[in-house]
Amino acid sequence: MKKYERLVYVVNDSLEQYEKIFQIENIGYNYQIGSLDSLKFEVKKISKETSREQLLLIIKKSVLTDENLIKILDFFSDGYKFTLPYILYIDDEDISQNDKETIDKGGNYFFLISKILYKSDYNSLRNYFLSYVNLIFKNLITTERLNYYIVDSFQTIVDSTLVNIQKAKIETLNKEIIEISKIDYLTNVLNRRAFFEALEAEKKRSIRNFVRLQNEKGIAIDESLDFHHKLEGKIEDHVGRFACILLDIDFFKKINDTRGHLIGDEVLKKIGEVLTSKTIFRENDIVARYGGEEFVVILPETNSEHAFVPAERLRKFIKQIDFFDEKKVKFNITISVGISEFSIYDKSNEDLIKRADEALYYAKENGRDRVIIYEEIYKKEKK
Ligand code: GH3
Ligand code: MG
Ligand code: MG
Repeated sequence: MKKYERLVYVVNDSLEQYEKIFQIENIGYNYQIGSLDSLKFEVKKISKETSREQLLLIIKKSVLTDENLIKILDFFSDGYKFTLPYILYIDDEDISQNDKETIDKGGNYFFLISKILYKSDYNSLRNYFLSYVNLIFKNLITTERLNYYIVDSFQTIVDSTLVNIQKAKIETLNKEIIEISKIDYLTNVLNRRAFFEALEAEKKRSIRNFVRLQNEKGIAIDESLDFHHKLEGKIEDHVGRFACILLDIDFFKKINDTRGHLIGDEVLKKIGEVLTSKTIFRENDIVARYGGEEFVVILPETNSEHAFVPAERLRKFIKQIDFFDEKKVKFNITISVGISEFSIYDKSNEDLIKRADEALYYAKENGRDRVIIYEEIYKKEKK
């Protein structure tokens, strides 16, 4: 088995002259000319055969963008036995003052060949270039020191590049997290946004109850007021009561099996979207994913009979959503839904869920794609 110790890899859209040197000269190193992407395969191949490597990557300065730098890093952070590569980057421009300063400060892990060389004749270019490569590998500093130096300064550059990218990401994420989180991290109370959300929900609940009370008493709502709800149900259907909706996708395993897990995940994502879109449920209804493909919704101030209305709306809504698999084949899904209502005699929260689950099971047993209220089964069974 061939043991590579050093590899020179010329990234193929680097300057032609250098590629030519490698193609026609016996330089005494293993070399490859290829794209940055195939570097990954070369490194993988070689990494299997040897234990410790040195790699000199020759790359045109303009090819070494931040994006490509990250690509290179990814190769080497992927558990290869290779140490980080030395990079010789070549340029057909004069070295800028900026580059000069960086090199002078010793903060640069690159070796650089500039315009002066590029313009010279083939032989001197070749000689200079090969001795440069030799120098890098052998004579410049001892391997260990060079290695240390390279790794160290590479790390610095990498860190600062990555840190800047990460920093920007973290800043946006932070903003989002603060927005999304309902809890003020310092004081542990609701944050401003959550407060206004809760206030809004409570206000709407209050208005509904006010209107129900007025209806109950047969008092007309003041015309000047901005809410003319015609609310269903009596006040005792709502106050002191709440319902639990448990839903489960029908034959979901089959969707995973025939169309793949990713498509399955897309379906779940979509259901999550529908449940929280406020088109089916109210904003103070509590929506959660209960298990794999089961979701639970708590509807405050709603008895199971009234909970049936949005549950049916949801069942019908989901049924008409067109999903598409990876082959762009359309498919639809159905859900089964169980509803239960809070009872003052419940020993624990599980009792409520258990009843909803029983209703759900009943829905599954009786043909799926339907909404079943637990209390209704109970009534039927009593008869
Ligand atoms: P039924 O109509 O009786 O509910 O049939 P079903 O196939 O939906 O029921 P079952 O409970 O046997 O299958 C649920 C499947 O949901 C099995 C599991 O692999 C899948 N599942 C659970 N969580 C996830 C998830 O996060 N993503 C995906 N894609 N699938 C999931
Ligand atoms: Mg299930
Ligand atoms: Mg299911």
